Amino acid sequence: MTSTRHDCIACGAEQRLAFHYRNYDYFRCRRCGHVSTLPLPTPEQIDQHYKAQFMDGNYLLLLNDRGRYMPVYEGFVRALEKELSRKGESLAGKSVLDIGCFAGDLLAIMRDRGADVWGVELQSDAVAIANQQLPGRVLQSDVHCTEFPVMQFDVITFTGVIEHLLDPARFLGRVRDLVKPGGLILLQTPNSASLFARVLRKYWPPYAPVEHIHLFTERSLRALLEQHDFRVVETSQHWKKLPVSYVYNMFRNFGPEFHRLLKPAYGLLPRFAREAVLPFYIGEMIVVATRV
Ligand SMILES: [Zn+2]
Repeated sequence: MTSTRHDCIACGAEQRLAFHYRNYDYFRCRRCGHVSTLPLPTPEQIDQHYKAQFMDGNYLLLLNDRGRYMPVYEGFVRALEKELSRKGESLAGKSVLDIGCFAGDLLAIMRDRGADVWGVELQSDAVAIANQQLPGRVLQSDVHCTEFPVMQFDVITFTGVIEHLLDPARFLGRVRDLVKPGGLILLQTPNSASLFARVLRKYWPPYAPVEHIHLFTERSLRALLEQHDFRVVETSQHWKKLPVSYVYNMFRNFGPEFHRLLKPAYGLLPRFAREAVLPFYIGEMIVVATRV
């Protein structure tokens, strides 16, 4: 426990100790509810964590089960198309950048809708796979996308990214420079003010030390976006249609307490029930915003 004062990265108010979980302290903002892991993990700890995670964690699960995750990506595309259609537009002809694009599956859907797609991804194995389906369109880079110093995009997406970053403000500053005025961003991230988060407290699966550093609320995300010239146009709960087996395996890394709790019941499920695709909601949000 520490007595140092911590100021919220979104609104500047004081963050107070909320709980302790797996060797980390979690601080919550008194004004906007933003939750941060403190002290922040070092870049070396983060590097080490991702190397281990990629070989043995959810990334491998995602890679092996890519086809089953497609309905989730299609949901993101529908959220974007909904906003574009309000302006009488579509993805056709739009330049799109997906930051943290993994194997490029979200980009491939948008390419099929006629978009001019580009991606950046840190994990080299994922970059290689992405370039098989999108030759030359996916670059290995961190989220600050230094490979795109002059290009601007109509649409930028970053799903499951911002909660992993040490400095989301710096990242949003970069995104602002990369998106055209009037352009759109779509992001997905856990919502630490959701009912799930409030009920489960520290056992809420997105409280995953090192992996997730900043757990936004609608209010904190809106504040940080506005500081970077974005206006939120739509916020929605993120329901994911996934096989029961996929969600069960995901709990191995996110929410190990649930994994242990569910194990006996899961063992009794017949195969068809394990493979059933159901809508799941664990308290994540999808936010669409426009660059002012
Ligand atoms: Zn705050």
